[in-house]
Amino acid sequence: MKIAYTVKEVREQVKAWKKEGLTVGLVPTMGYLHEGHASLMKKGVEQCDKVVVSVFLNPMQFGPTEDLASYPRDFEADCKLCEEMGVAMVFHPEPEEMYSPNFCSYVDMSVLTEDLCGKSRPVHFRGVCTVCNKLFNIAQPDKAFFGEKDAQQLAIIKRMVEDLNMDLEIVGCPIIREEDGLAKSSRNTYLNESERQAALILSKSIFLGKKMAEEGETDATKIVAAMTELIETEPQAHIDYVKVVDGLTMQPVDVIEGPIVTAIAVYINKTARLIDNFHFTPAE
Ligand code: AMP
Repeated sequence: MKIAYTVKEVREQVKAWKKEGLTVGLVPTMGYLHEGHASLMKKGVEQCDKVVVSVFLNPMQFGPTEDLASYPRDFEADCKLCEEMGVAMVFHPEPEEMYSPNFCSYVDMSVLTEDLCGKSRPVHFRGVCTVCNKLFNIAQPDKAFFGEKDAQQLAIIKRMVEDLNMDLEIVGCPIIREEDGLAKSSRNTYLNESERQAALILSKSIFLGKKMAEEGETDATKIVAAMTELIETEPQAHIDYVKVVDGLTMQPVDVIEGPIVTAIAVYINKTARLIDNFHFTPAE
């Protein structure tokens, strides 16, 4: 497995692969990789000849009061997992390699970025769109793999690729959970034992909402109310949002008539802000 630190190295390698007629898959990550990331790599290896994993803690997608400095890192373990998963190249640039001192070009998106995580993280999606655009230009992938765990991010990236005529396919991959239900996240490492238990309230509320939708509840406000009530039983949990939105536009819906995402963001004390969601499409 090759480890590339510069844009030039990635370009040269990808060019060589393309010359041989090989397809390229990209898995963008911020590192501290776990089984959720591994599931994206697995799908990449299944669908593409060569898989590139980017491990880049992108400063642009963190606000000034967010957890950039404390975000967990373990590049050695990341490389080990990538190698085990059959990844061909890891791209691990320094921020200076990605953002020159004169950098001033951004990809901004309206509508889809304004609610949910965009509301409490106002610079986040500008950073995500800009870095993904750069990574797509650098690695020239045929496909890029993203987790449904970040449902709004996935919808935004799909929209960006369509709106800006980018020549690649975005593949969504299901949420990977711990045995007890908690969605796997690099940020789970922030939690102490009691907070780790408290964090289960996220997946419990997701499973409750999903069950209600599957049993035919079409009133989104009732689902939100039930999920909110359940989360509020956990004293260490503080809700950022609980929302039912259209699966494509991420706009709030009152009545479930088509594909929806129910998305939540919950602070566990001041230790971590965790997200979770479920997709649901009513039967015809
Ligand atoms: P991150 O390193 O948190 O930026 O995540 C990189 C990619 O892995 C994103 O596309 C995430 O949606 C995806 N991902 C993170 N956690 C999970 C999970 N538990 N299940 C599936 N995909 C995930």
